[in-house]
Amino acid sequence: MPLVELAHQLQNMNSQLSIRTTVKLNNGIEMPVLGLGVWQMSEGVETEHSVLWALEAGYRLIDTARLYGNEVSVGSAVRKSGIFRKEIFVTTKLWPTDFFRVRAAFQKSLKNLGLAYIDLYLIHWPMPLIKSGIWKDLEKIYREGLVRAIGVSNYNVNQLEALVTTANIATVVNQVKFNPFSYKKELLDFFKSKNIALEAYSPLARGKKLNDPIIADMARKYNKTPAQIMTRWSLQHGVVAIPKSSHKERIIENANVFDFQIEVDDVKLLDNLS
Ligand code: NDP
Repeated sequence: MPLVELAHQLQNMNSQLSIRTTVKLNNGIEMPVLGLGVWQMSEGVETEHSVLWALEAGYRLIDTARLYGNEVSVGSAVRKSGIFRKEIFVTTKLWPTDFFRVRAAFQKSLKNLGLAYIDLYLIHWPMPLIKSGIWKDLEKIYREGLVRAIGVSNYNVNQLEALVTTANIATVVNQVKFNPFSYKKELLDFFKSKNIALEAYSPLARGKKLNDPIIADMARKYNKTPAQIMTRWSLQHGVVAIPKSSHKERIIENANVFDFQIEVDDVKLLDNLS
């Protein structure tokens, strides 16, 4: 479903929505609304187990990056899960040190993951002076069908506007820090107007704000955990969220956010925490 529609449905409790709900990106492909982030997970057992637990719990979006050094384990878990490849949405990212060898970096990620294609390939960090050349490289990879969508991360409105003027293929996503303590309303409104999805990284504020008194009060009020309140808040803004955990019970907990609704006044209270 389109993003604006999703935000509307999440604000008005809809029992049809679940971890399998997807949003339609501006190139027509579907992206799950909730995923697992794997930053700061070590290559090997930690990443592999976490991804397998997440897939078992119903997650279908995994967010990694070349920088995280765990693409091999992500790919291995995807294959071991036995779930059809086309049902899993895998994101990885291009780090600035690879900006002058985009093709080689992309091929390396593909090889690490051991996959025939990547669902979403993001420019991890904006580098204004050389942005258009990089984007053209991404467009080429996209046209060849090796990636289903291309996007950016950590772009502000100006950087995105500059990209939009030179791009032939629009970015589908901007992945940015987004949580009640880092609420980017202007950016969100801009992206909605351009039909570009916003994806929330650090939706739990890296676990550092889970004891905030307002979050804790709200968790009690809704009989949910602080992490669930924060994740649900992102979703109710029509934003895709990718909380990270390498604990099975937390991975399950973080996905259990589709059976309640934060009231409008409480959403506003959370908006004002930033
Ligand atoms: P998050 O906001 O997702 O928080 C993760 C932290 O919260 C971890 O310490 C985790 O600990 C803890 N945690 C998770 N669930 C719970 C829970 N239910 N109860 C208590 N603590 C919990 O932080 P991230 O910065 O990792 O962001 C998520 C993802 O976004 C990343 O993994 C990455 O994929 C992406 N990202 C992208 C960036 C970019 O530049 N594009 C930058 C940063 C992140 P534990 O694992 O021990 O459970």
